[in-house]
Amino acid sequence: KGKLYICPTPIGNLKDITLRVIDCLKNVNIIACEDTRRTKKLLNHLDIYHQNLISYHKFNQEKKGENLVHKLNQGFDVALVSDAGTPSISDPGKYLVREAIDNSLTVISLPGPSAVITGLAASGLDTGSFLFLGFIPGKGAQRKQFLNKIISSESTVVLYENSSRMLNTLRELEPHLTDREIVIARELTKIHEEFIRGTANDLISKLESRNFKGEITLLVEGIDNAGVENYFSKLTTEEHLHEVIG
Ligand code: SAM
Repeated sequence: KGKLYICPTPIGNLKDITLRVIDCLKNVNIIACEDTRRTKKLLNHLDIYHQNLISYHKFNQEKKGENLVHKLNQGFDVALVSDAGTPSISDPGKYLVREAIDNSLTVISLPGPSAVITGLAASGLDTGSFLFLGFIPGKGAQRKQFLNKIISSESTVVLYENSSRMLNTLRELEPHLTDREIVIARELTKIHEEFIRGTANDLISKLESRNFKGEITLLVEGIDNAGVENYFSKLTTEEHLHEVIG
């Protein structure tokens, strides 16, 4: 049977592609890509002239997924590529991966760029535990629930936001985050890469006085968990162990 390879691609800087991903793209039978034109450009840049690119995106992923699993079952190796970063992380892929697993096929995850980890690593926030939430919904009850998850998280929160909505989002969060640190990781790996750090209030003033565009990964410090420690310190050791072990 064939293998499914998850192939991360650059999130800006074209040099951010691993030797292993390049080898894989050269050698697989099929490349399943979110946008064939975009992937073709990347492949041309790498001097790879692959003849078998198949489109696999959020509007056809169920139907194409079945088709690809059929090809894998027939013995063809498939590389999965999204427009940028790691496939299946806020990108098409998770259905295909699920289908492949359910069909007892081998899934190989090649490491590589992802805006989540790239932003988190340089954020200066706690990296020991983090909550990745994907894209903030634009409106409605889902947006409220999402904002509540950010506000109530003890771990660092990482999420994707659109630059035109950034200021609004900060204004909505500001009354609830008080002095928690926020980092806007903008245009990671690109020429205009920058990290804008501060409280919600600081960032609102900074953004109000400038033109703000580009791709954004937003990181929010978790709630200071002193409250949790206080709660445990009030318990006797035996009660504490009971709380922890259950
Ligand atoms: N699968 C991708 C990954 O692993 O990074 C994420 C895909 S998601 C559709 C695209 C979002 O990721 C963008 O809207 C932006 O929020 C974030 N993003 C992608 N590239 C970025 C970059 N160079 N700098 C900051 N954020 C980025």
